[in-house]
Amino acid sequence: MRGVKILEGPNVAVCDWPDPSPEGDEVVVRIEAAGLCGTDLHCLYEKDWACPSIPGHEGAGTVVAVDKPRRLKEGDRVFMMAFSTCETCGPCKAGYFVYCRDANTSMHGFSRDGFQAEYVRIKENQCLLLREHVTFEHGAVLQDPIGTPFHAIKRMGVEAGHVVGVFGLGPMGLGAVMIAAQKGCRVIGVEPIAFRRDLAMTLGAADVVDPAAGDIAEQIRELTGGEGLDRVLECCGRAEVLSAALDLAKPFGHVAIIGECDEATIQPSGHFNRKEVTLSGSTVFPMGEYDEITQLFADGLPTDRFITHRFPIERAEEAYETFAAGQTGKVLFTPTVT
Ligand SMILES: [Zn+2]
Ligand SMILES: [Zn+2]
Repeated sequence: MRGVKILEGPNVAVCDWPDPSPEGDEVVVRIEAAGLCGTDLHCLYEKDWACPSIPGHEGAGTVVAVDKPRRLKEGDRVFMMAFSTCETCGPCKAGYFVYCRDANTSMHGFSRDGFQAEYVRIKENQCLLLREHVTFEHGAVLQDPIGTPFHAIKRMGVEAGHVVGVFGLGPMGLGAVMIAAQKGCRVIGVEPIAFRRDLAMTLGAADVVDPAAGDIAEQIRELTGGEGLDRVLECCGRAEVLSAALDLAKPFGHVAIIGECDEATIQPSGHFNRKEVTLSGSTVFPMGEYDEITQLFADGLPTDRFITHRFPIERAEEAYETFAAGQTGKVLFTPTVT
């Protein structure tokens, strides 16, 4: 089968890999749509991020082979959760596979072959059936760009009428814009790339702010009549942006960290004692939220505009270059385009 390989250089190539066959509790899935994610760019450009096998941790497809299945059969359409699960530890039982305490757990696209390929061998318990109204493309964006902000937004108690700031309009941020707008919020996006600001407006943002046009805080205070933001999602992983988010949150507001960031400065007294702001984070949604997330698609989330580019695996190099240049929404690999 064909699949993407990340090379030193940095560069990506399309290589032939052995055809997978399922063993025990595994199935083989033919990939119908797979996401290209900011994390894949880290693997490509940053030496600290090892990606030893086929990249890709966001995908959906059709079961084409089974060994000793308990649930799935050939022909089933499935969403694939990238994280494996022991099914027995506390976090796994609660549906948080990402926090599994078993040292042998793995993640497709990192410690196991990923989804940017024709086929993948995956444990059956990581595959969830796609409901009839959920397309393969929905399945490919379900985990990270939709599921992660959805989980954050749910924990933040976002309600219609809230003024919600989304700082950083990459795929995760654009996902947050769509979900918050669908909930009836007034969404204000912040992003330096004009293409992504314009795209956010078509996905439901009420206003967008260009950090190059002046101080973010001043621009947002002006847009909100000095009130600030009820809820803020930090989707770019930058310490100074997290500080700005905490500054701009209203008293009793809530800030969620979605962008990955190792270190940041917070002001315990100013932000928490005297403003009672709540700070949380989100990496991936728990399995118990799967049905709620698939319902977003039935309710008309504008994913057709959110997915701006589709490539076949054979054009992987062009796909990575296009996504890295930033003039995109979500980029997918799909065999149905040429
Ligand atoms: Zn991802
Ligand atoms: Zn576990």
